[in-house]
Amino acid sequence: MTAPSETDEHGPRVPIVCTACDTTARIPLEEVADTLERHNERLHDGAEIAQVDPDVVDHLADLVATEMGLLDDSS
Ligand SMILES: [Zn+2]
Repeated sequence: MTAPSETDEHGPRVPIVCTACDTTARIPLEEVADTLERHNERLHDGAEIAQVDPDVVDHLADLVATEMGLLDDSS
């Protein structure tokens, strides 16, 4: 196995932020929900503090749509 790269070969990575413990991370899209749930469960008694970076939420639909090819089927 080679070292993981920063390319998106495994799909889009989504930045998450937690204002309570000043954590930021980039998580593969498919793992975001589980990662946030575990983080909040372990560190914040289940409070929904960690979340997807608000700056990205607006673009997330586009990101996913692009990844799925929905916006790029004209070529
Ligand atoms: Zn936290």
